[in-house]
Amino acid sequence: MVIIGGGAAGLMCAATAGQRGKTCLVIDHSNKLGKKILMSGGGRCNFTNLEIEPENYLSPNPHFCKSALSRFTQWDFIAMVSRHDIPYHEKTLGQLFCDNKASDILNMLVNECETHNVITKTHCTVESVDKQPDGFQLKTNQGEVQCQSLVIATGGLSIPTMGATGFGYTIAEQFGISVSQRDAALVPLTLSGHLLERSQSLAGVALDCVVSTAEQSFSESMLFTHRGLSGPALLQISNYWTLGETITINFLPKNDIRALIAQWHEQKLKQNIKNLLTQYLPKRFISVWMSDEVANKTVNQLTELDIQELEKNIHNWSITPAGTEGYRTAEVTRGGINTDEISSKSFQAKNTEGLYFIGEVLDVTGWLGGYNFQWAWASGYCAGLHV
Ligand SMILES: Cc1cc2nc3c(=O)[nH]c(=O)nc-3n(C[C@H](O)[C@H](O)[C@H](O)COP(=O)(O)OP(=O)(O)OC[C@H]3O[C@@H](n4cnc5c(N)ncnc54)[C@H](O)[C@@H]3O)c2cc1C
Repeated sequence: MVIIGGGAAGLMCAATAGQRGKTCLVIDHSNKLGKKILMSGGGRCNFTNLEIEPENYLSPNPHFCKSALSRFTQWDFIAMVSRHDIPYHEKTLGQLFCDNKASDILNMLVNECETHNVITKTHCTVESVDKQPDGFQLKTNQGEVQCQSLVIATGGLSIPTMGATGFGYTIAEQFGISVSQRDAALVPLTLSGHLLERSQSLAGVALDCVVSTAEQSFSESMLFTHRGLSGPALLQISNYWTLGETITINFLPKNDIRALIAQWHEQKLKQNIKNLLTQYLPKRFISVWMSDEVANKTVNQLTELDIQELEKNIHNWSITPAGTEGYRTAEVTRGGINTDEISSKSFQAKNTEGLYFIGEVLDVTGWLGGYNFQWAWASGYCAGLHV
């Protein structure tokens, strides 16, 4: 068998198939295997999550991911990590990171492959793929290769400088398999006009928030940037956001500003609102977010209209982002190969025997927090068991 793409899913598939005694060649056009693993999780690889549910994945067919996620779970991957004595810790929200370096995970996968005699070829570009009666013929810059099974594990489009290409989508189309619209996801959102000016003046300010689209909400931290909005909450919502849609941000999700004002009123506090709020929100945020007129009022000087304005700006800031930062900074690609045309058990294309698609190239997108790697491990494992 040949696997095109020596990233997370491809290496997992190779290790699994190798263990079954299959002759396995992994081809990658990059100079190194698993580059995204190395750069992931800020260099520490958030390799899975303690709580993996199908609901953590976006896909037009929400059932598609269920089988693989239940056949190769986070516990299976954690067991593998433990077998290799890789130290790890939970950072937040069930997210597991290496204590040392992301290379621990890559080395583990490469070791598993080597143990099972998997051959890997980097700097290898596939020029064409042709279906033969008994398999496939590949023309590469390093010669021709024949195989019975061909696994496409070329990932998504994010970070082209790390070797991302649309190769998997092109192969799908060549074999008559449809590919849905692709967009950058888990990506910072950009702003324009006065919203951008506001964000720029707060660049570097982080705060906990709840950010929502019409269908989904996330409660995590966010960050103002020179281009717009980023941080975990914004990356999460970017998975659900489409151009032209409004998002709403609650900057003070654990308190109710109206209740706070009533409480300060009862306590007969004499400070101005700006000072009272510093217990709850960053000073720089308050100075930009509130008009001087309201900010300098004391509690008993506030009118009902002032309170309504505060409620709107603090709990219910509704904006339409200008766009996203695109594939240059996106962690993943939303959309991809139509899962209706792929078996959810074996990952084989329903219309072409021997042709498999795994990992991010499929139209399955995980949340931020180790979910995308878990999808790569699970789909790679299932295909590796079947080829
Ligand atoms: C900066 C960053 C940080 C991330 N951090 C995390 C994280 O901490 N946790 C998490 O769960 N997810 C994270 N992700 C997402 C995660 O890396 C991907 O979802 C995952 O790597 C997908 O696995 P894959 O095997 O499908 O694709 P990849 O791992 O991207 O592997 C695809 C491979 O195919 C090769 N390839 C591409 N085109 C060709 C071609 N034409 N010919 C030959 N080879 C080709 C590439 O060189 C690459 O090696 C992060 C992504 C980025 C960009």
